[in-house]
Amino acid sequence: METKQHDLVIIGAGPGGYISAIRAAQLGLNVACIEMEKALGGTCLRVGCIPSKALLESSEHFHEAQNEFKNHGIGIEGLSLDLKKMMKRKDTVVRQLTTGIAGLFKKNGITHYMGKGRIDGPGKVIVEGKDEAILECKNILIATGSVSAPLPGVELDGDRIGTSTEALAYSEVPEHLVVIGAGVIGLELGSVWKRLGAKVTVLEYMPNILPGMDAELVKHATKIFKKQGLDFKLGVKVTGATKEGDTCTVTMEGEESITCDRVLLAVGRRPNTEGLGLDSVGIETERPGIIPINDHFQTSVPGIYAIGDVVRGPMLAHKAEEEGVACVEGIVKGYGYINYDAIPGVVYTHPEIATVGKNEEQLKEAGIEYKAGTFPFMANGRAKAIGDTDGFAKILVDKTTDRILGAHIIGPQAGDLIAELAVGIEFKASSEDIARSSHAHPSLAEVVKEAAWAAYDRPMSM
Ligand code: FAD
Ligand code: NAD
Repeated sequence: METKQHDLVIIGAGPGGYISAIRAAQLGLNVACIEMEKALGGTCLRVGCIPSKALLESSEHFHEAQNEFKNHGIGIEGLSLDLKKMMKRKDTVVRQLTTGIAGLFKKNGITHYMGKGRIDGPGKVIVEGKDEAILECKNILIATGSVSAPLPGVELDGDRIGTSTEALAYSEVPEHLVVIGAGVIGLELGSVWKRLGAKVTVLEYMPNILPGMDAELVKHATKIFKKQGLDFKLGVKVTGATKEGDTCTVTMEGEESITCDRVLLAVGRRPNTEGLGLDSVGIETERPGIIPINDHFQTSVPGIYAIGDVVRGPMLAHKAEEEGVACVEGIVKGYGYINYDAIPGVVYTHPEIATVGKNEEQLKEAGIEYKAGTFPFMANGRAKAIGDTDGFAKILVDKTTDRILGAHIIGPQAGDLIAELAVGIEFKASSEDIARSSHAHPSLAEVVKEAAWAAYDRPMSM
């Protein structure tokens, strides 16, 4: 096996790994990035963020054509669904983006090794697979991401009883899809298949959907999703899922079992460290497989760093990217910056749900005195014009200083509207700063401005 030298060897080419590689190359390092899958881009581009959003968009168009166009005076006859074409479009979007990363690697002079990376001591990584090699380096960055968490008794068969990966590629619309877990994946992919015609039952262990999210938002979202036809069973403990022929049976503690034709297991993800060689350098993981790091993303071994889904914190693509940039800037320049309070989270259902910073429950628990300013989409001209008025924006500010502490939006384009408030938190803005900034009329962004007025003083359009 040939031995090669690099300044930095990155294991994994997901959003964390590939962004770190590009930034490190921009800063002058000789960078290698190892990826065991053929396509670059990780979970996010191959089987996560991108294909799910492509299907959410297509299925929403279908739903609108079926249910909303008539409200605009548009009649359609003979509407049909070509699922094969919908899937092909999704695959094209994924292919365009993953090959785009290969282009970015080339442009930035990053050496791409295709194979499985295994740490074999400090400063040494072995690549097993197509591009086998021994890599010697000053620094190693682990960005190996996460995999779906299993659930005892749920017998995954890679087809009818599967994870999000299977649910992104069903060959036909399920008659009855049972989703285990009312988290982000359960709601996004449950929505896709509901819109395309499946009966969807969502089973959740906790008493509410989207545990941990702002309670007022969750209450509103639950009402909307129920109206859309998602059937929730909350506070139930799933004990198993089995398949016989094309029929699946899901069992729960103290409840009647459910039969269906597809099961989606979506009870979270766990860090991916299998076969990574952590033992060879004495790195011990915490349950459930998280690699402990310090504020500079360094593991217990100098020269070995970790970022993204494999470390603590929310499992989000942009969080992995921010950590990657901060980590490599730390390695090269001696300092890196990240503000975890300004990292937004978005659920791409319809309406979208977006949050940043602290929610009301967290502020109460911390004993922080705050004011809340809320404004509904119902009172916004643009929302009326597009016919999408469900939801509201809520801004939470410090009662004394007026500084924005958190923002929570459910409504059309919430995922884009939240960006203004993430920047606001980053710049330590007050609600008055947002309220007195001009927002175009008529725009959905005026809901944010009015919520800021509500937090600062009082809204004017209601
Ligand atoms: P990953 O993207 O998981 O990348 C890790 C890479 O490392 C993988 O390509 C893997 O093959 C490779 N690898 C692992 N071990 C080795 C090894 N030993 N050698 C070589 N290569 C290795 N997040 C969002 O922010 N927005 C969304 O809309 C969103 N939607 C999602 C939808 C779904 C269905 C799923 C499953 C996830 C979604 N996520 C979303 C989460 C997001 O995908 C992850 O947070 C993100 O991909 C984490 O990036 P990462 O770089 O840490 O890891
Ligand atoms: P999640 O943590 O969002 O939700 C899992 C849900 O399953 C929780 O509500 C949990 O209470 C429930 N659960 C756990 N055990 C259960 C059981 N035995 N029976 C019934 N319910 C059970 O996880 P996920 O939806 O699988 O998503 C995984 C990760 O991927 C998340 O961390 C998320 O951040 C990320 N992701 C993000 C996006 C996005 O940003 N739009 C989209 C999809 C996934």
